[in-house]
Amino acid sequence: MKDILYIVVPCYNEEEVLPETTKRLKEKLNSLIKKKEISEKSKVMYVNDGSKDNTWNLIKEIHEKEPLFTGISLSRNRGHQNALVAGLLTAKEYADVVISMDADLQDDINAIDEMIEKYKEGKQIVYGVRSSRKKDTWFKKTTAEGFYKFMKFMGVDIVYNHADYRLTSKKILDQFQNYKEVNLFLRGIFPLIGYPSDIVYYERSERFAGKSKYPLKKMLSFAFDGITSFSVKPIRFISSIGLIFSILSFLFLLYILISKLTGAIVISGWTSTVALISFFGSFQILCIGLIGEYISKIYLEVKERPRFIISENLEENRKERI
Ligand code: UDP
Ligand code: MG
Repeated sequence: MKDILYIVVPCYNEEEVLPETTKRLKEKLNSLIKKKEISEKSKVMYVNDGSKDNTWNLIKEIHEKEPLFTGISLSRNRGHQNALVAGLLTAKEYADVVISMDADLQDDINAIDEMIEKYKEGKQIVYGVRSSRKKDTWFKKTTAEGFYKFMKFMGVDIVYNHADYRLTSKKILDQFQNYKEVNLFLRGIFPLIGYPSDIVYYERSERFAGKSKYPLKKMLSFAFDGITSFSVKPIRFISSIGLIFSILSFLFLLYILISKLTGAIVISGWTSTVALISFFGSFQILCIGLIGEYISKIYLEVKERPRFIISENLEENRKERI
């Protein structure tokens, strides 16, 4: 019995790239099936993340024509990470092993062979890691690499230069299901699950067509989410700074008292008083804001709202028809 592979691809307004992605993934799956690496029941599962263009109709058309392709549709746009979770948790019901990748062909699909090889050696998670970022713009490269370094500094265990191109076995996904957080940062969760894992290097290419759905603003908020979902270092940092300032202000108090007693004080000090008040005032607001970020995360988590709602599942339609 060969293992069933599902390739999960989140799609948001991807009508421009889907035909080419479909062509290339079809070739890849067929060659793997022919080489008897995977079962002929293997499939590509597109996840339509509430696209506003023709993406879902296209997915349905592809599904009708090609038995190797299936899809699910979310009830509205929920963002890349939620779409991915929806796809992974749905695919694991049909598959033994799942690979997640982007729709825009930036992830080199030839790395799939090596991922499957490692899986056969017993690895339960195989991370796709970009060997270089030659094709990224200077800005994207610098911000992205800075992001990984900052995350490490903040104590978040992530694989350097790994995004969400990854192989996971069903065993891993069964465990992953228990991570019910709504503030999702998947590349931080998988290393927490454990089990033997490995890395496959690949060259990240340019987007095949269409525009990036991750503008700078979304990227920054994603990075911030990653830090506050996985690290309490910022809060500890505030406590340490608070301690340092307390010591400093105590020393300052001593200085004032001594100056007073020795009669060195004339009526001056207005500037330093105002400077200190405004400095501590703004610093306190900053700290309260940061703590507020954590509280807002708790607020979102306790509600336990569903992370996604699947409005259509082509896989199930097929079963009903049979
Ligand atoms: N995506 C999604 N929902 C969103 C935004 C993006 O499912 O709200 C998908 C998108 O279709 C693509 C993947 O996430 O398959 C990565 O997005 P993109 O390529 O735009 O990001 P970048 O590679 O520029 O970081
Ligand atoms: Mg992309």
